[in-house]
Amino acid sequence: MKRTDTEATEMEDGHKKIENVIIVGSGPAGYTAALYTARADLEPLVFEGFAWGGLLQQTTDVENYPGYPDGVMGPEMMQQFRDQAERFGTRFVTDDVSRVALSRDGGVHRVYVRDEEYLASSVVLAMGAEPRKLGAAGEEELASRGVSYCATCDAAFFRDKPALVVGGGDTAMEDATFLAKFASDVKIVHRRPEFRASAVMLNRARGADNIELLTPYTVERFEAGENGSLAKAVLAGSDGGEGPELEVAGAFIAIGHKPNSEIVKGQVDMDENGYVEVDGRSTRTNLAGVFAAGDLVDHTYRQAVTAAGSGCAAALDAEAYLRDSPPDPEAHWASEPAKVEAAGELAAGRYG
Ligand code: NDP
Repeated sequence: MKRTDTEATEMEDGHKKIENVIIVGSGPAGYTAALYTARADLEPLVFEGFAWGGLLQQTTDVENYPGYPDGVMGPEMMQQFRDQAERFGTRFVTDDVSRVALSRDGGVHRVYVRDEEYLASSVVLAMGAEPRKLGAAGEEELASRGVSYCATCDAAFFRDKPALVVGGGDTAMEDATFLAKFASDVKIVHRRPEFRASAVMLNRARGADNIELLTPYTVERFEAGENGSLAKAVLAGSDGGEGPELEVAGAFIAIGHKPNSEIVKGQVDMDENGYVEVDGRSTRTNLAGVFAAGDLVDHTYRQAVTAAGSGCAAALDAEAYLRDSPPDPEAHWASEPAKVEAAGELAAGRYG
């Protein structure tokens, strides 16, 4: 039966349903986890966020997702991901999760949207990561019209055109080196004379004929040309002085990413940058029944297709967990409210 109810289900006797699996997040990882768990008859409940669909909702052409030989618009692709998950019975809550209280001992996990409480035997975390924004004037307006946060995705759109990369880390060097295969010339703009990037990646960028390093500068503003797309970047010296004006068609911001892990901070293990840690090649976090997938975990590849693959892995891991760790005799229903309360209070108490 296809279910579309999204309110926490309450039984006639007042007990709440314990979902098999709750998925938090709705990019390629979240929707793929939903598709697989739905097809395993686990009736997943997805908290897809008010702005559902993740970063691809802010993207135009996607040309590197296999199976779309003519490319596809990001929002259209996410609609298709969602439709496919829904076809097999996925239910959606189109709202933001306010907080979670994850059980430390494989008990019932709790997810809250404001005061509404949802219970689950397993949880897949797939909240993604956001590229850090520069905060330069014109950056937001020209996003997807020249300003990009993903060279792997967009470099090919700047064939034989001038481009710049902002940042001084490995991502900036890697982006510039990749971009240099397409663009006529690439300027790397960095705010300090010293680079954080590893020597090997810095030297590779330095060695390219069409890459130039400009320091110490920041981008003051991006300006559009007559066609409404990016035409110019105005730099400022990091000491506050003036900088050159660069005619560019593409600007790649590579100043790091920020995983959307605030709601699980202090509950699951994370690295020093806030990425959720998983056990080896699996999606298992340090908490039994809690899995993590996509850009929330991956600071290396960050592609829609790799996120989808990891969402699939999370679904398979959750399915195996539910199979091998069946809940108490109450099966899917919390017929011992006191026990559920205790698990929630334990989690809330420990994690504040
Ligand atoms: P990093 O945090 O290493 O570098 C971010 C860069 O952006 C820094 O140079 C920083 O400047 C600059 N920056 C940050 N904020 C601003 C701002 N507001 N304005 C201007 N510049 C800013 O991030 P990366 O994404 O480069 O790398 C993340 C991790 O991934 C690293 O561990 C890296 O080694 C790894 N990585 C490895 C790769 C590989 O091995 N193939 C490829 C890509 C990444 P400052 O230095 O002054 O702080």
